[in-house]
Amino acid sequence: MKPVIALVGRPNVGKSTLFNRLTKSRDAIVADFAGLTRDRHYGDGRQGGREYIVIDTGGFEPEKPTGIVAEMAKQTQAAVAEADAVVFVVDARTGVSGQDHDIARYLRSAGKRVLLAVNKAEGMSESPALAEFHELGIGDPIPVSAAHGQGIRSLVEIALQDF
Ligand code: GDP
Ligand code: MG
Repeated sequence: MKPVIALVGRPNVGKSTLFNRLTKSRDAIVADFAGLTRDRHYGDGRQGGREYIVIDTGGFEPEKPTGIVAEMAKQTQAAVAEADAVVFVVDARTGVSGQDHDIARYLRSAGKRVLLAVNKAEGMSESPALAEFHELGIGDPIPVSAAHGQGIRSLVEIALQDF
C-alpha cells in the first residue's frame, strides 16, 4: 500500500494548489486502497521515484462547530486518521494566526507524523520571518511555494523518509 499524505490547514493557505503540485492524476482510484473512503479528495503522486496518495481537505475551524465548518473539521479529522504523514500548511505572507494555533494543538494530540509546510515562501527561503512558525510546536518550518514549485521535492522526501 502506498503511503498517504494528508494536507491540513485553514482556508486559503494553498492546500489545493499544493495538492495539484503533488499529484499527477486527480481523484485517484481508491478502490485499490482498502480503508480509504470516497468522500474526500484523493490524488496519486510520485516524486523522485516514490509513489504516494495525497488527500486534500476543505479547511478547519475548530472554534465554530456548526454547519459547513463542522463538516470541514470532520473531513480534516478523518483525513488525519487515514494519513501516514500530515502536512500542516501555513501561509508565509500572513504569518501565524490564532486558527493555526488551534490546528497545531489538535495535530499535536493526533499522534501522527506532522510536517509544517510554510507556503507562499517564494523568495523567502532564507527569511527570518519563517522562524516565527516555530511557536506552533510542530517542528522546523519547511518553506515551499506550491504556486512556483519550490521546496516540493524536499517536502515529500521528509514526509516519506520513514516509509
Ligand atoms: P486552500 O484554500 O488552502 O486550498 O488554498 P488554495 O490552494 O485555494 O490557494 C489560495 C490562494 O493562495 C490562491 O489565490 C492561490 O493562487 C494562492 N497560492 C497558493 N499557493 C501559493 C504560493 O505558493 N505562492 C503564492 N504567492 N500564492 C499561492
Ligand atoms: Mg482548497
